[in-house]
Amino acid sequence: MVRNIVILTGAGISAESGVPTFRAADGLWEGHRVEDVATPEAFRRNPALVQTFYDQRRAFLGQVVPNAAHLALARLEAQWRERGLGEFLLVTQNVDDLHDRAGHNRLLHMHGELNSALCTACGAARPWRGPLIDDPACPACQRSGSLRPDIVWFGEMPYHMDAIGDALSRCDLFVSIGTSGAVYPAAGFVQWAKDAGARTLELNLEPSAGTPMFDEARHGPAGTLVPAWVEEMLGAL
Ligand code: NAD
Repeated sequence: MVRNIVILTGAGISAESGVPTFRAADGLWEGHRVEDVATPEAFRRNPALVQTFYDQRRAFLGQVVPNAAHLALARLEAQWRERGLGEFLLVTQNVDDLHDRAGHNRLLHMHGELNSALCTACGAARPWRGPLIDDPACPACQRSGSLRPDIVWFGEMPYHMDAIGDALSRCDLFVSIGTSGAVYPAAGFVQWAKDAGARTLELNLEPSAGTPMFDEARHGPAGTLVPAWVEEMLGAL
């Protein structure tokens, strides 16, 4: 009997909403090399390029909506809570806000959020909807020119690792959805869950680098696979 569930999602779950994934066949993120837009060095070298890149991604969120996979996970969490079945934690590597808009109670953005700005002067993170390119003042310390995207770049420490580790150590089901299994530490969560005795399931468009680690893998689009799996879970209650 499953009680405690941890779900990890990646860019693949948002693909059918129209948000491009990270690793397209050409290895570029929307036409940019990762080294040019997703590292602290890139930001130091060319802050305008990096701010513009994330300003565009943030503005684009207004053009997309949660898809059937996001909505199904929100349904699953609601049922898990309403019926007091156990713990439910959704961990996302995504920086979009589609899980937030689908409606979740326990959702952790381990790689940060487009809709948040981080002050490099005072360390405060605050909700942010507009552009950062024009160096607005930090809402917390009022300093200008100190805000950066609240995104965990390569070489930086992901957020919420203690809470994620605790949940993984107590889970009896771990499900990975729409992630290539190439970015650590998230790619290692399946092993943490297995060490805790959990059953592990992968739902991804195609076999990923991590597929051999999972007890079961189902391949196809998240918009089809995830609602079917959620119905299966709820039907078994
Ligand atoms: P990734 O792009 O490396 O991998 C995406 C995975 O999703 C691939 O395995 C691919 O086969 C699969 N996929 C593609 N379309 C799918 C679909 N319709 N249904 C199911 N699976 C599908 O992404 P990642 O593993 O999340 O790691 C990349 C990093 O890029 C993350 O840290 C994330 O912060 C960042 N990122 C986020 C977004 C977003 O917020 N939506 C978008 C691009 C990149």
